[in-house]
Amino acid sequence: MSAKLTVGGEAVGRGRKVTIALPITRLPTGGAMTVPIIAINGRFDGPRVWLSAAVHGDELNGIEIVRAVVDALSAKTLKGTLIAAPVVNPFGLLGGDRYLPDRRDLNRSFPGSKRGSLASRLAHLFMETVVNGSDVGLDLHTASNHRENHPQIRADLADPKTRALAEAFAAPILIQSKQRDGSLRQAGVDAGQQVLVYEAGEAMRYDSASVEIGVGGVLRVLQHLDMITEAPEGPPGPPHIVTRSSWVRARRGGLLSTRVALGDMVEKGETLGRIADTVGGRPMAIKASTAGVVLGINHYPVINKGDAVAHVGEIATSD
Ligand SMILES: [Zn+2]
Repeated sequence: MSAKLTVGGEAVGRGRKVTIALPITRLPTGGAMTVPIIAINGRFDGPRVWLSAAVHGDELNGIEIVRAVVDALSAKTLKGTLIAAPVVNPFGLLGGDRYLPDRRDLNRSFPGSKRGSLASRLAHLFMETVVNGSDVGLDLHTASNHRENHPQIRADLADPKTRALAEAFAAPILIQSKQRDGSLRQAGVDAGQQVLVYEAGEAMRYDSASVEIGVGGVLRVLQHLDMITEAPEGPPGPPHIVTRSSWVRARRGGLLSTRVALGDMVEKGETLGRIADTVGGRPMAIKASTAGVVLGINHYPVINKGDAVAHVGEIATSD
């Protein structure tokens, strides 16, 4: 890559770490709304990587992961460039909301357009400023709506380069996952990049285990790309590779108590939780429809028929 780096109109010299407030719009109250970006232009040649968090504004673990990663990196020794955006959706962050004020999901609005909705314009600006021109992208998420995810990488594992990055990250679970139209990941892949999505923990919370695996994982990916020389050790043993997963849903409403924890291995037919009604009527067991690993859990006890209870991933046998 060239030594010249310009982010949001600001030149970032070799060996410099710069924080930029990228203007998105003026708020109805008159103040400027900006997306914070930290650009680290390493002293030496290497790949260009983007790192994003809080595309869903209430998913906070990634913000802390970005902070710790940026803190750990020195522009004086870095080979290549890292462009980090800890809060891609600042509207959502301030409102404790997954979405944007126009009720759109930013992660269904990529690559966006210059003249579209607020979500579409923000997506377009982020592509132009951060994503385009990069080689690799890492997008940090948590579960939503009172759900919690076991730390997991979602990526196209059929692509060897992407799979190598996913393995370097060393989250306990790797999920072969389809692209989603309009997602940041899809937009990065369409631009010829390898993109990993890290999902861990729940919305509205910092979770130290998810953050620690995330920080180590990002640094291990940078080490794999030869951008840094040292990164924390990953967890022992190979990750579980999940090829198919599905949410087990409640067959009736009631109050849910779960009987399994994130990362548990369950058998087909095993009880994942029980739904009782408020006046103590007969409880109903919620059973696993396949054997696998518990990838996600719903922590909100008030359940309607059809609500998700637990996310179970089937583990590939030949890895
Ligand atoms: Zn998300």
